[in-house]
Amino acid sequence: MKRTKNIVIVSHCILNVNSKVEGTCEFGNVSQRLIKYLMDNNYGIIQLPCPELTIYGLKRWGHVREQFDNPYYRKHCRSIFEPILDQIEDYIKNGYKIEALIAVKGSPSCGYNLTCSSSIWGGEFIDKENTDKKIEDLRLINNLGVFMEEIEQTLIEKNMKINIIDMDEESEAVTMEAITELLKGKGN
Ligand code: SF4
Repeated sequence: MKRTKNIVIVSHCILNVNSKVEGTCEFGNVSQRLIKYLMDNNYGIIQLPCPELTIYGLKRWGHVREQFDNPYYRKHCRSIFEPILDQIEDYIKNGYKIEALIAVKGSPSCGYNLTCSSSIWGGEFIDKENTDKKIEDLRLINNLGVFMEEIEQTLIEKNMKINIIDMDEESEAVTMEAITELLKGKGN
């Protein structure tokens, strides 16, 4: 691998699918193809920490954006992003380029264009009827996950612009088209 001074930041689970909520779908070939593309084109890769794993651990349930939309989780997101922000500042100051940040479509934390939502998800699973009602209310909406929102806000406060793009775990073609278009002509 050559030192090109080109860097891409990726959500934690793109390099380590083990951090995802147990039982949810895996990335198949999408993340492998994406990482191979980045390595073949000599991008350095910075891995973000997983905001959910580092507060709720591996046994967590799947959550929705509304549950994470609180000051405690937002503070957690900011604090785990801080060491990465230091790296970004130092790299940029020394002439390196952060070409993209790759988010995870649909995640309540790391989604960029789509995030998982429900106003009634949470509380106790009292009975089947109550639980079914909650499951039926789950949907994907056009909004950011809370971690991505805090990252974007932090970058704005620092006057930094990094292109953020979702990896679509259900479509290798959509993911690769979006990432190659974004990085076109930038690699080495
Ligand atoms: S919180 Fe983010 S990094 Fe962690 S598993 Fe979910 S999408 Fe991946």
